[in-house]
Amino acid sequence: MPSDTSSVITGRCYCGLITFYTSSKPQTVAYCHCTDCRRATGGPVSAFAAFSEGAIVFTPNEGKRITVNSGVTRTFCERCGSSLTGRYDYLPNQIYISLGVIDQADDLAPEMHGHEAQRLSWLHIVDDLTRSESTTRDMLVAKSGIP
Ligand SMILES: [Zn+2]
Ligand SMILES: [Zn+2]
Repeated sequence: MPSDTSSVITGRCYCGLITFYTSSKPQTVAYCHCTDCRRATGGPVSAFAAFSEGAIVFTPNEGKRITVNSGVTRTFCERCGSSLTGRYDYLPNQIYISLGVIDQADDLAPEMHGHEAQRLSWLHIVDDLTRSESTTRDMLVAKSGIP
């Protein structure tokens, strides 16, 4: 851990085998209502914090990698199954961390809803955030600062 921990973001999987930290602030935080993320994370909606690739330090590693649909690579703890990261070919140089495994999740309010068209019909999150019927790719890229 860096000596100045005031702005450090930390997290761990359910069983604690995998821990991580970063001194970087998220580029953005977003809900995703797509069925893929729902199945991968097990929740009725998923949420992720985006960081630039390489910004997160994992101990001992970021978990087991799995690709089910081409272009998407996710990692999870091989011992407890926690969903940890996602990488998307259409969002290069970014790593998306599952919000629920971040210790400071309460400070990281999402800024947008993605794949609103796939939202569970009974799930109503009342806010004024931007909602995209499909991918929020353009907004995510804009927030990433990647040209
Ligand atoms: Zn674990
Ligand atoms: Zn998704």
